[in-house]
Amino acid sequence: MNILSVTSEIYPLVKTGGLADVAGALPLALKSLGIRTRTLVPGYPAVLQKLENPSERLVIPDVLGLEARLIEASCEGLDLLVLHCPALYDRVGGPYLDATGHDYGDNWKRFAALSWVGAEIAGGLLDDFTPDLVHAHDWQAALTPVYMRYGRAHAVPSVLTIHNIAFQGQFGFNIFADLRLPPHAFAMDGIEYYGDIGYLKGGLQSATAITTVSPSYAGEILQPSFGMGLEGVIAAREAVLHGIVNGIDVDTWNPATDTSIAGPYSAATLKGRAANREALCAHFNLDRDDGPIFSIVSRLTWQKGMDLVPDVIGDIVSHGGKLAILGSGDSALEGALLSAAAQNRGRIGITIGYNEQLSHLMQAGSDAILVPSRFEPCGLTQLYALRYGCVPVVARTGGLADTVIDANHAALQAKCATGVQFSPVNADGFRQAIHRTFRLYADRKLWTQIQKQGMKADVSWMRSAGRYAELYSSLISRTA
Ligand code: ADP
Repeated sequence: MNILSVTSEIYPLVKTGGLADVAGALPLALKSLGIRTRTLVPGYPAVLQKLENPSERLVIPDVLGLEARLIEASCEGLDLLVLHCPALYDRVGGPYLDATGHDYGDNWKRFAALSWVGAEIAGGLLDDFTPDLVHAHDWQAALTPVYMRYGRAHAVPSVLTIHNIAFQGQFGFNIFADLRLPPHAFAMDGIEYYGDIGYLKGGLQSATAITTVSPSYAGEILQPSFGMGLEGVIAAREAVLHGIVNGIDVDTWNPATDTSIAGPYSAATLKGRAANREALCAHFNLDRDDGPIFSIVSRLTWQKGMDLVPDVIGDIVSHGGKLAILGSGDSALEGALLSAAAQNRGRIGITIGYNEQLSHLMQAGSDAILVPSRFEPCGLTQLYALRYGCVPVVARTGGLADTVIDANHAALQAKCATGVQFSPVNADGFRQAIHRTFRLYADRKLWTQIQKQGMKADVSWMRSAGRYAELYSSLISRTA
């Protein structure tokens, strides 16, 4: 089975969030099931710098009016097709935002071009690689199934994965002519979206199947409160909607071998966490006492419930707890958390920024990680936490609800609890969850049991990759 994956980011080349982790890990897990994936990705400077054995495959003279080159390369076991088009991707900022944090004005073209090339490959652009199925990720690649549907690859099955329905790629009608789609594509069952053009909307209408990254989120996006305007479109396509929870790279995230942390440990040697606790306290200037250390590794945004954190700081501190925060995002939230840390020296520490290595130490050295998201398609931080014996305290939503087993009475009796869930997701619900966590932590035997149970959870890609493989097979055999 040959799969073409189309994505705007892929770990370890370029990452802004969970999408990159999935795009990077799924092909490797599928490889062990005998499925070959090639991934089409934009040639940002960060990508071009990291390629192994790059070779120019062909010149495409007219990609929406621009000349581009397709480069074949590999990187850490991934087979890549890189769309080299300096006019679109050679920028100093990130993949989507310029150096001042604003969307590039031509994002519509940058990702339409990526999708157009994806559809061309599906239609036979390369003589030695014709995919049996195309897997497109998020709005940036969502036009791929649209171009396929209206072009020569209409018989090739496609899967569109929604990693976060909040990002939809909506643009004015004025770009329509430049997309080079036929006039009838601008319709309710195509890319028309309230008079505008919706990339994700068009993809949802055109893909053979739709997946999202957890079963709970698949159910949630059928409702107006989570569907963000697309609930009707999703409902109309419910028969082909699947929820497949993400896995994590259990080699990169393995406390027994992790070189980013201060000392290795496993479920059998949990005492080995002490060296990491010490390193964490040193980094954040936290007091060295036995109180639980809570941590946060997150984008600092409303989606992640980060505005609720100042409401629980008093509860954490007054009960003898500590809090270490790593994140960046909304400047008002950064300011509020920085001032909370300044007022609670020794109890609250914060590092603003993105730091992959420190994020590992946070999981290894803290006792509980806080994930109070208002919505969470899957969430990865709680999966890393489970693997590191760091107890996740999570909002009962989306993938958080699917991957953490709440330490309620029945689950504790059955010895299957792995964390704490709370609902409703507001300051009171969050506060109660923090109090419950303190009570669980006070019973050290029980706490250790929850840690060990979490470390036993299967958070690898293998089970999820199996689900994708089944889906791919069923779609390919249906269209064969
Ligand atoms: P999202 O993709 O919505 O941001 P996920 O939980 O799915 O949320 O994935 C976030 C990923 O980014 C995780 O790998 C998490 O550990 C990582 N991450 C988030 N913020 C930071 C940060 N400031 N430093 C390091 N890693 C971070």
